[in-house]
Amino acid sequence: MTPDDAHDFRAIFKSLCLAVGAEPDDAKERLFFAQMKDIPLEIVRPAAGVLAKTHHRMPTVAHWRDACDIAQSARKALPPAEVIEQRMVCDQCEDTGWIAPAHGLACPGDGRCGIEACARQKSPHTFTAACSCRSTNPIYQYHHPIKRQYGSQEPGIGRGKQ
Ligand SMILES: [Zn+2]
Ligand SMILES: [Zn+2]
Repeated sequence: MTPDDAHDFRAIFKSLCLAVGAEPDDAKERLFFAQMKDIPLEIVRPAAGVLAKTHHRMPTVAHWRDACDIAQSARKALPPAEVIEQRMVCDQCEDTGWIAPAHGLACPGDGRCGIEACARQKSPHTFTAACSCRSTNPIYQYHHPIKRQYGSQEPGIGRGKQ
């Protein structure tokens, strides 16, 4: 929180006091603010909401900070709001990171797919390729936080006997 958040924090603090049946106290409010300065207001606020529902008396700074930790990890588990709104970012791969065969990745069997086995089999097939959106697609990145090294399970590749 920044000094600008003191006003909002006061409102949060007061409603938490009311919710748990404690007397709002200026000194306590300043103390809590100072002890939680390192936590952003958008985390402090939902944490206070949780404490208001679960506590019968004023939580300690440590309790509130614990609730902030939980609120923070819950936030991290969700994609940013704009990602949820957008739903599908890339229609080439439908955000899977692999171009769907429906988008015309067909190989007549001449090796244009780049698959080693194709040169031996020489039969038409469809194949997938890594979509170019990966580095910029927030939905793909959300579902694939660690870059995949091997793409051997992609559908549509008839590998046959090796
Ligand atoms: Zn894509
Ligand atoms: Zn091929």
